[in-house]
Amino acid sequence: MSRPSTAAHDSTRQTGSLGRDFRVAIVGGGICGLIAAIGLNKSGILVDIFESAPKYGEVGAGVGLGPNAIQAIKELGILDEIIARADQTLSRRGFNFKFGTGDCDFIWSYPTTDDDYGLGIHRAKFLEALAEIIDTTLTTAHFNKRCVSVENSSSRPIIYFADGTTHETDLVLGADGIRSTVRAAVVGEKQAEDSLSFSNTVAYRGLVPTETLRSLGVKTDMVAKPLCWVGDGKHIITFPIKENTVINIVVFVKDFSIPIGSKRLPPSEPWVTRVSPDELRSQFENWGDDPRIIISCLLEPSKWSIHSLNPELKTYVNGRIALMGDAAHGMLPHLGAGAGQAIEDAVLLSQLLGHPLTSSSNIPSVLLAYDRVRVPRATMAQRGSQRSGDIYDGHGESGLTQEGIRKDAEGQWDGVWHHDLGEDMRRAVEWLREEGAFGE
Ligand SMILES: Cc1cc2nc3c(=O)[nH]c(=O)nc-3n(C[C@H](O)[C@H](O)[C@H](O)COP(=O)(O)OP(=O)(O)OC[C@H]3O[C@@H](n4cnc5c(N)ncnc54)[C@H](O)[C@@H]3O)c2cc1C
Repeated sequence: MSRPSTAAHDSTRQTGSLGRDFRVAIVGGGICGLIAAIGLNKSGILVDIFESAPKYGEVGAGVGLGPNAIQAIKELGILDEIIARADQTLSRRGFNFKFGTGDCDFIWSYPTTDDDYGLGIHRAKFLEALAEIIDTTLTTAHFNKRCVSVENSSSRPIIYFADGTTHETDLVLGADGIRSTVRAAVVGEKQAEDSLSFSNTVAYRGLVPTETLRSLGVKTDMVAKPLCWVGDGKHIITFPIKENTVINIVVFVKDFSIPIGSKRLPPSEPWVTRVSPDELRSQFENWGDDPRIIISCLLEPSKWSIHSLNPELKTYVNGRIALMGDAAHGMLPHLGAGAGQAIEDAVLLSQLLGHPLTSSSNIPSVLLAYDRVRVPRATMAQRGSQRSGDIYDGHGESGLTQEGIRKDAEGQWDGVWHHDLGEDMRRAVEWLREEGAFGE
C-alpha cells in the first residue's frame, strides 16, 4: 500500500532511557497490549500504544486468571500491585461440575494442587490497574487511532490509521484482538479472513450480586469455587469476583446441527448485542431450579457471537511485525485460558525484547524466537478449549454422564496451568545463540 500523501507522518526515532536503539508500537490497548507495554518499560524501552477507542476500556464482566497467568504476572513483578488495585485476593483454583438439569446433581470437583492459585477479576478493574502501572514517561498512549493496515517494510513497518495518519516504527506488536487488522500483514489477507471462524456458539453474559442469588433461593454454594453446569448443547459458567460479592455468569448455547465454519455472520452484524431476558430464559425452561434462578437474574443480558481462529495460525510473526493475544490465537473461552495465553505472550516477548543483546538489527530473529516458543503452546490451549466446550455441552468422547464428564475433563487444565515461563525464555535465548543472533 502506498503512503497517503495527505497523512500526517509522525515517525520518531527517539531511543529509550537505557539507550535502546529501537522503540515499539503496540496496536491495541487491551489486556495483552498493556501488559506488553509494562514489560517493555521495565527494560527502558519506549512504547507507543495505538488504541481505537477514546480510552482504555473493557466490558463489564469478569475474567478468570489461572495459575499460569498469575505466574506470568508475578514474573513481571506486578502481581501485588494488581491485587491491591483491583481489591482482590488469590484463591485456590479448580472447578466444580454439576448437571444443569433435574436435581442438578454434583458431578465432580476438579482436583487442584497447593500451587493452583488463580484470580477472578472484574475486567474493567484489571485494565484500570494495568493502565495505572504503565510508566507514562516511557509509554505514549494514542487514542481514537484505529489501525486499518500495516505495511511490512523490511526496514521499518508503517501503520496506517482510519484518520489518514501513519506511524513508522522499528517493530509493530499486533495486540488488536480477535478481529485484528494487523493479522493480515503477518499471514496475508486470505488466511487472515479464512481463519476467523464462528463457533456456532453464543454466550449470554452478566453480573449478579451474590446476595441476590441467595435471597432468591439458590442453594448451590456460588463462591466456594467456579462452577460449570453441564447440559445438552448448553452450559453455564459461574465464578465469584469483587471479593465474592458478585457472581460472573456466562451462559453458552451451541448449535451442533451444522459444521463449524459453515455459518458466517454478515460483516455488518455486530458480535455483541443486548437481548431480552426472555430469549435466554425460554431456552432453559427444562433446567433445574438453581440454574433457572441464576438465569432469571440476568435482566439485561449481552449476547456474544463466539469466534475463534480455526484453523489456528502457524506463525505469529513476519519480519518486524508480531501478533499477540487474541490477534494471534483467539480461542474459545471454555478453558478460561485466552487472557492467560495473551499474558504469557506479552511477558515472554517483552523479556526477549528487553534482553541486553537485543537491538534494532536482530529484532526479526528475536521475534522468530518468540514464534518458535509460543505457537505450539498457544495452539495446545486453542485445541484444548474447543475440546472442553464439547465436553461441557455433553458432546465429549464419553458423553453426558457423571463418569463420562469426569473421564473426559480429567487433567484438562494440566498443560495450560502448569507451565515454566522461565524455561520458555531459556529456550528462546538458546535458539538465538545457536542462530548467531545473540553471538556464540
Ligand atoms: C465470553 C468470553 C469469556 C471469556 N472468559 C475468559 C476467562 O475467564 N479467562 C480468560 O483467560 N480468558 C477469557 N476470555 C478470553 C479473553 O477475554 C481474551 O483472550 C483476552 O481479552 C484477549 O486480550 P487481548 O488484549 O489480546 O484482546 P482484546 O481484549 O480484544 O483487546 C484488543 C484491544 O485492541 C483494540 N483494537 C481492536 N482493533 C483495533 C484496531 N484496528 N486499531 C487499534 N486498536 C484496536 C480494542 O479496542 C481493544 O482495546 C473470554 C472471552 C469471551 C468471549
